[in-house]
Amino acid sequence: SSNNLQGYAPICLGLEDFYIRRLYLRIQDCFGRPISSAPDAWFDVVERYSNDNNKTLKRTSKVSRCLNLGSYNYLGFAAADEYCTPRVIESLKKYSPSTCSSRVDGGTTALHNELEECVANFVGKPAAIVFGMGYVTNSAILPVLMGKGSLIISDSLNHNSIVNGARGSGATIRVFQHNIPSHLEEVLREQIADGQPRTHRPWKKILVIVEGIYSMEGELCKLPEIIAICKKYKAYTYLDEAHSIGAVGKTGRGVCELLGVDTADVDIMMGTFTKSFGSCGGYIAGSKELIQYLKYTCPAHLYATSISPPAAQQIISSIKVILGEDGSNRGAQKLAQIRENSNFFRSELQKMGFEVLGDNDSPVMPIMLYNPAKIPAFSRECLKRNVAVVTVAFPATPLLLARARICISASHTREDLSKALEVISRVGDLVGIKYFPAEPTKQ
Ligand code: PMP
Repeated sequence: SSNNLQGYAPICLGLEDFYIRRLYLRIQDCFGRPISSAPDAWFDVVERYSNDNNKTLKRTSKVSRCLNLGSYNYLGFAAADEYCTPRVIESLKKYSPSTCSSRVDGGTTALHNELEECVANFVGKPAAIVFGMGYVTNSAILPVLMGKGSLIISDSLNHNSIVNGARGSGATIRVFQHNIPSHLEEVLREQIADGQPRTHRPWKKILVIVEGIYSMEGELCKLPEIIAICKKYKAYTYLDEAHSIGAVGKTGRGVCELLGVDTADVDIMMGTFTKSFGSCGGYIAGSKELIQYLKYTCPAHLYATSISPPAAQQIISSIKVILGEDGSNRGAQKLAQIRENSNFFRSELQKMGFEVLGDNDSPVMPIMLYNPAKIPAFSRECLKRNVAVVTVAFPATPLLLARARICISASHTREDLSKALEVISRVGDLVGIKYFPAEPTKQ
């Protein structure tokens, strides 16, 4: 009886009651509040992530062991690691799980300073500041950088943390069509005095916000073109590398490295530690002046408890492995493996006739389901066959662009991936989501 557009849509599509129920439970009401009657079974409880290459998880509801194709554990650092884990345990003993203090009130340990230096060096910027949460990094920083009289131009598919940060800033917000540089230029022209390049007037400043890899699309940002436009119109650039830092580029340094962009051309680099580094928290990297300014003014630095020391140690250690500073070449192997795994999996899915979004080298692989009613059937049938996938629907995507989002890890073996492909192919036939003719298999 509520005005729940999402809940009614499947009825319009004439689907079975079962699907409606599952879909309805997954979503929010028309005010964006979660529907409280969802049974616990919907929110599967993960019992543990195994340490056999971190490729499996156990669910407590039925305690089944399955291949994990859903987590952002791109380089496999989120499970016990021979280099990282002993150091994390040491830091836990030395510093405890929490500093119980903000950065300026006794919450800065030697690890925090080391982490900021390590991150700045890794991403190729003079300085960095870290926060306890990636989401908060975006939502707390944007209101410090931008305000009334300034203009934010945001990609239409930017993450919710960016959207909320932009709204909270009080700046004027304009959106450009997802990853279309020519539309960004059109919006800029409309917004600046006389539509002339080389001025940001009448705005105090203009900030263009993009992501390195779009988390629901698996697509790489058209960064070189976007930077050229920003330079032309004197706009600053803000790049969220949550899904690209550590995951792409020859040495894991993200989309700048992959696309041959000089990091000096990106004004503000943001990223999270919850994906490639197997930890938690987020960072902003930029000029020394910018970071100094943020350290004196950002409420999330001044008033929030600092990032947990063991989490900080995990990031430092995983970056050392990526850079080969642990004395092994495991980092280089992981980077080569994630690239090979991603490109193999993507091309095999396409050969089977699935519509897969995203670009080569991207470990994020959305398989289009379109019809939201196919979500429960697809995820349930995969899970029955011990493959865990994440399905995404409204409001994270438009209503009729539901998808299953596969995240590939360097820890997946070829055997894991082949098994997953077999299962996804069978379930794809069952649910009817192979929209293209399959390529004949070579004899
Ligand atoms: N930015 C992007 C692009 C993201 O996809 C996410 C979450 N996946 C975040 C920021 C928030 O990061 P975290 O989950 O580490 O808080």
